[in-house]
Amino acid sequence: MAPPLVRTLLVGLALAACKPVTPPAPATPPAPATPLAPAPVATTRAVAVTIDDLIVGGRDLGVPRTRAMTTALLASVRAAGVPAVGFVNEAKLCTCDERPARLEILRQWSAAGLELGNHTATHPSLTRTPLAEYEADLIAGEPTIRALQAERGQPLRYFRHPYLHTGPDLATRAAFESFLADRGYTVAPVTLDNSDWMFNFVYTDAHTRGDAALADRIAAAYLAHLEASVVFYEGAEQAMFGRPIRHVLLLHANELNADHFTAVAAIFRRRGYAFITLEQALADPAYREPDTYAGPAGVSWMLRWDHSRGRQQVDWRAQPEPPAFVNELYQAAQAAPPP
Ligand SMILES: [Zn+2]
Repeated sequence: MAPPLVRTLLVGLALAACKPVTPPAPATPPAPATPLAPAPVATTRAVAVTIDDLIVGGRDLGVPRTRAMTTALLASVRAAGVPAVGFVNEAKLCTCDERPARLEILRQWSAAGLELGNHTATHPSLTRTPLAEYEADLIAGEPTIRALQAERGQPLRYFRHPYLHTGPDLATRAAFESFLADRGYTVAPVTLDNSDWMFNFVYTDAHTRGDAALADRIAAAYLAHLEASVVFYEGAEQAMFGRPIRHVLLLHANELNADHFTAVAAIFRRRGYAFITLEQALADPAYREPDTYAGPAGVSWMLRWDHSRGRQQVDWRAQPEPPAFVNELYQAAQAAPPP
């Protein structure tokens, strides 16, 4: 048997190898029933928020309502400390008498310290629009956004494809990506997709009709759908990467998000996400995954990577859909004149 001192050292080394050093027990036990402070939330999860279809997604709400929506949305984004990027459809500023007022609404985003990106002027689909026409539409959207970015001392650097349509075939996609690179753009991918635009469409109609009860029901369903979508993508990232990746969330500039952005941010905080810039998100090596996807549908970059790996590690049919009542309201709203 080793002498007592050596034995103590050996035991100490063995303990040190498997767990941190434990401090000696206190001479007197701590007071009972003292509630513990909650453990700090791990923030290995991270998400960049992008907001599309500026100055307003869905139905055109007119200047006063769009201004109020924008003011509310930006107040909540700033209060939550979210460094969002806003993607602009320049044609929504119109060439009419309202243009100065609409430009002031867009300027609110810059004044709030948020970066602006190009989402084309008129929101065409690259699936359905000839490439030259589509590129001309993108260029038409540039001057206003570039000027607002220049006022903040920043270049115009991000492009987001409308409908996430990146080209019906690989040749079109490659030609367009070459065009984007020549004009100095970085593509803004989306990993966390959801259907906020559909919920918003029927939410704003409910508000227009003064049906607050229906609007509340739609908003509750939206938040549940959004969280279910996040849970789905967390499962997908585990299957594909075995770790949390830095996500890019797609939302739209609309009354639904203006009224409920604080609750949206709370979902992510509760699930342990930090809010990061788009630039920080794109530094994740996930965004250098091979992407050979081409097709008519607009889909998450997660699906593109899964497709490109050829391993089908995710069951994309399990992706959450909006509830039936929202889908039915949306279909009916499409068929009827605006309220
Ligand atoms: Zn859009």
